[in-house]
Amino acid sequence: MIKNIKKISFVILVSLTCSVNAFNVKRFARHLLGDGVLYVVFPEIMNDILEKPEYYRAYNGYQDKQDNNNKKNEKSVDNQKITFKDIAGIDNVIKEVTAVVDFIKNPEKYKKLGAELPKGILLQGPPGNGKTLLAQAIANEAGFNFYTESASAFVELYVGAGAKKIRELFDKARNNKPAIIFIDEIDAIGAANRGIGGNEEYRQTLNQLLVELDGFSKDNSVIILAATNNADALDSALKRPGRFTKIINIPLPDEKARRDILNLYIKKLPIFDITPETMTILINRSLGFSAAELKNIVNEATLRAVELNAQKVTNEHFIFGLEKTEQRRNY
Ligand code: ADP
Repeated sequence: MIKNIKKISFVILVSLTCSVNAFNVKRFARHLLGDGVLYVVFPEIMNDILEKPEYYRAYNGYQDKQDNNNKKNEKSVDNQKITFKDIAGIDNVIKEVTAVVDFIKNPEKYKKLGAELPKGILLQGPPGNGKTLLAQAIANEAGFNFYTESASAFVELYVGAGAKKIRELFDKARNNKPAIIFIDEIDAIGAANRGIGGNEEYRQTLNQLLVELDGFSKDNSVIILAATNNADALDSALKRPGRFTKIINIPLPDEKARRDILNLYIKKLPIFDITPETMTILINRSLGFSAAELKNIVNEATLRAVELNAQKVTNEHFIFGLEKTEQRRNY
């Protein structure tokens, strides 16, 4: 146990009676451990963290999030150039958000028929399936600046500190319109009933978010997107008219989606050779994988091919990548 504690560089044990479920607490802790520093340990999962610190660090999609965090509050239009073409397996969702982008670009066409642009859009689904990617792509496709923050960054110990951070994020977007604000893991500040029982800081942070959302209700040059694992569990105040009125589901990829996502990443490789049989094995054995994990199969396959000095990435490397990803999931 002591050995494990050493692996975590800094621990402050805060006694929290959390009304959020253990799953959300785990996700939050995994986020914090992404920095290699654990600031807050929830008693509910203390033992779990000490037994499996690597699991918490190897948070699904963590590396991508790390990249995003390094670039947070920057204009993605300049840094990543992610477009709808970089997203696979969610064709219907792309269709839906293409209409939003079209509205942004041609507002008159919609307004003359009385349509209203959704101000807030909730992207709902398990982690690693493209919610962040989609938000960036919408910003790029619409030519909007992109500002993002994970809601866990608004969780502060001091009353008013979280609200101040929210104000700063919205100020940045306000000063750089047109802009899209993306709040990842909004559950950290928007879960229903968290303010009950005297958590003043939590209440103030959520209130500030509501004030900011209302402030943009008539402004079509700022759109707010947020990611959640479960929109039903969010405070109903967030879903009132003028706030997050549109919910878009982004589920785990089904069979066709897994094929499309694997193909997207395999076809990006300079030289590869994969038989239909191997492709079928990858698709069948990856049931329940997120898109980020599917990408990881291809990445692990590529690393294996390099390690073996191969001329191209072939079947055996892809199977290796699959097995490596399976191991990581079971860790
Ligand atoms: P989420 O926000 O839902 O947790 P992300 O958008 O951060 O997931 O996804 C993590 C990474 O996984 C992305 O940066 C991308 O590399 C890959 N990825 C996720 N979903 C998709 C998708 N639908 N198509 C292609 N790549 C994806």
